[in-house]
Amino acid sequence: MTKRSAVFGEVVSANEQYAGDFGDKGKLALPPARRFAILTCMDARLDPAKYAGLAEGDAHVIRNAGGRASDDAIRSLVISHKLLGTNEWFVIHHSDCGMQLFTNEVIGDLLVDNLETAQFDGKTWSNPKHGGGSVAGKFIHWHTIVDNPRSVVEDVERIRSHPLVPRHIPIYGFIYDVKTGLLNEVAEATAVGKAIRSAET
Ligand code: ZN
Repeated sequence: MTKRSAVFGEVVSANEQYAGDFGDKGKLALPPARRFAILTCMDARLDPAKYAGLAEGDAHVIRNAGGRASDDAIRSLVISHKLLGTNEWFVIHHSDCGMQLFTNEVIGDLLVDNLETAQFDGKTWSNPKHGGGSVAGKFIHWHTIVDNPRSVVEDVERIRSHPLVPRHIPIYGFIYDVKTGLLNEVAEATAVGKAIRSAET
């Protein structure tokens, strides 16, 4: 019999409890009721349902490392609007993001050497083990972050200028503060993401 981890058991039992009290949620419609989407970081400290007040069925939440507007994030946003009716989008990065702690070169070099979890001493990353790495990481654009407000503006700009994104969708830019739980608007990003009504075009 397969030996399962403690986490495996915890997840299954937490889910049993959740499903036991599922109530009317089985009747929710597929399209998000509040017709908006959030693109945010996968950071474990961020809980979009809590920081943005979402219940099941309310909104789309698209997450990746950094909350970056990668091709795949844009794929999800386009589906979110085109097929499921969202018409306002939030790009939410955050303070103390792990994506600020390395560059394409750093992660590429670490992976060339070894695939196991690296160590960070507050300044540099190093591999505790060596061997068995791959050059494949050298071919990936990791979408790291140098300047936090800048990254939000860049991502909003990228989404705003995408040919598959209608111009009437407003895109707002924010940085979530992991020390306070507050969402701070990046005014420049929201300005870049401003909706353009067809009358104005
Ligand atoms: Zn992050």
